Amino acid sequence: MGVLPEWCPPYNSRKKDPATGEEVFCICKKPDSGELMVGCDGCDDWFHFSCLKVPQKFNELVFSFFCPYCQCGITGPGASSGNLPKTLWRRKCRVPDCYKPCAENSKYCSETHALSYMRSLVDRVEGRGYDAQDVLRQMLQNSDLTKFQQIGCEGVPTPPDELAPGLFEGDSRLRDLGSQADKIRTETRPEIEQQLKKLERYMAWVKTVNHLLFASASEDQDGPSSSKSSRALKRKKKSTKPKSVCGYHPRLEIACSPEEFASQYDETETELNSVCCKLRCPRHSDWSGIQETSLRFQLETLESSLERLALLQKIRQDQLKMQVYKELSKSKQA
Ligand SMILES: [Zn+2]
Ligand SMILES: [Zn+2]
Ligand SMILES: [Zn+2]
Ligand SMILES: [Zn+2]
Repeated sequence: MGVLPEWCPPYNSRKKDPATGEEVFCICKKPDSGELMVGCDGCDDWFHFSCLKVPQKFNELVFSFFCPYCQCGITGPGASSGNLPKTLWRRKCRVPDCYKPCAENSKYCSETHALSYMRSLVDRVEGRGYDAQDVLRQMLQNSDLTKFQQIGCEGVPTPPDELAPGLFEGDSRLRDLGSQADKIRTETRPEIEQQLKKLERYMAWVKTVNHLLFASASEDQDGPSSSKSSRALKRKKKSTKPKSVCGYHPRLEIACSPEEFASQYDETETELNSVCCKLRCPRHSDWSGIQETSLRFQLETLESSLERLALLQKIRQDQLKMQVYKELSKSKQA
């Protein structure tokens, strides 16, 4: 069982206010007052955004919500399986103050926001169109460093090595940024990539199992001699999805070959070797898709962390370089 967050009161199964008989919800056990609430996919109770400390503007970004008790395994699917569910979020539109989810295959909620984002990028790049030589001249004339930093110039020229030996190597802030980026590149990212591969391998196994269990029956109906076009026609008429087992396994473990599994399969059992065998399983509906989305989302988050770290490194390098120039201009004036 997991640990409840500090702000969350212990679980209480009460559904009605003993005094008024009114239906009560949430961790606060209060009636519906019209405040924004979200339904839990694990226990079917409703929860106030404010009680959960979730900003209301995230409303449209909830993909699949689990309350603190379900995430802890006190209620919901985790209580019996021990596999604790987590709330999943949709990807937010890239425009900073927009909290709408991304449209399909897009990083933006809408065409309008895609355009406005691009425009702001172009503006930023054009705003940086300073000539490095010019910047250096300005800087040496103008010893007001803060003013200079505000220009936000790109590419402060690196001072010659004789003037500042080991300028970057000696800086602990830069080393720290570097090791953060290294950790992501050598540990965190490979770990998630590994998990994605594991999921893919496991899903391929489930697919083969389902093929062994159910595909042979429908192929027999088609008959081996039927031509491609007639088969296509038949498929169109028969638009029902082929039967398949859910295949959910909490640790994605492949315990045996698909053939072995298929031979042990028993229609009357809902589980075999911890693999969920329900044919239409509402509990795990699209579980692999959700896990994949979540892993890919994590990978993307890491990519933007790397971008951010690279930018911070560059800013720090510029700062260090400018310190050198500042000293230089001082000694010139003296
Ligand atoms: Zn509440
Ligand atoms: Zn719940
Ligand atoms: Zn948007
Ligand atoms: Zn299932």
